[in-house]
Amino acid sequence: MKIRLADTRGFCAGVDRAIEIVKKVLEMNGAPVYVKHEVVHNKTVVNELKSLGAIFVEEIEDVPDGEIVIYSAHGVSKVVESDSKEKSLDVFDATCPLVSKVHAEVNTYAKLGYDCLLVGHLNHPEVEGTMGQFDTSYGGTITLIETLDDVNKLKFADGKNLAFVTQTTLSVDDTLEITNLLVTKFPDITGPKKDDICYATQNRQDAVKQLALESDLVLVIGSINSSNSNRLREIAERSGVDSYLIDSSDDLQDSWLKGKENIGVTSGASAPEHLVRELINSLEKDYGYSLQGSNEITDEGIAFRLPKGLR
Ligand code: SF4
Repeated sequence: MKIRLADTRGFCAGVDRAIEIVKKVLEMNGAPVYVKHEVVHNKTVVNELKSLGAIFVEEIEDVPDGEIVIYSAHGVSKVVESDSKEKSLDVFDATCPLVSKVHAEVNTYAKLGYDCLLVGHLNHPEVEGTMGQFDTSYGGTITLIETLDDVNKLKFADGKNLAFVTQTTLSVDDTLEITNLLVTKFPDITGPKKDDICYATQNRQDAVKQLALESDLVLVIGSINSSNSNRLREIAERSGVDSYLIDSSDDLQDSWLKGKENIGVTSGASAPEHLVRELINSLEKDYGYSLQGSNEITDEGIAFRLPKGLR
């Protein structure tokens, strides 16, 4: 009975940076420090930062005037930025630079007066932030596209003055279908070469596809609100194997393992590696599986600098 690990898994550069920002700000200023939304979507990380003195809030109005606030890795809207100014908040921005890149694209399209389409998931904080970065005062609009059907319903006359961007943590395959349809329907549409899906999402999806080929069960460590972790579970399931998303080894259920000889394990971009080690330990000690191959993580060669004032 074997366990195999995805060689590309766990923390990405944007998550590493966001957690480091919260820790550094706490170190420099002492507790409490306010954080707008979960800085990254992981229960264990959030609980650890809470224990160090971080207070997580959903609305800027919940931060007392003049206090420090940190924006989460998912980014924020222009309204959040201006509300922070009005309350004289001292802002540290943990928005992932790859999300900021999409904000910059959206800002450019807004200033050109273009209509913009954002391919993404309704209610995800990154989508709320990106939609809210689009300045409609230049005359353009921004529309959320979730499905192929949404594209079919679009009523724009042509692709001139029309652009698209995408959320960074989508399914690469689903997004390709949507962007292909957009380009077919609006040949003149402007957009990124392929999409705005980040390197970490792409690499983890490639790795889980490979892992699923060698497994009859894939366990993904990640929290339920983590977009990229949910996509990993879906991809494994679409490859024809059972797959579960779990926060930690505590969520493991005996019935999932019945008759399973080859277990694949991976983790989302916001899941700490120690949770993977604990899961492997539990599968070995409590269930008699043994880890095959290396437990090393591939170095993706990406690191982001901390904001000024924290370096
Ligand atoms: Fe940045 Fe991608 Fe990580 Fe999100 S998953 S924080 S976009 S690198």
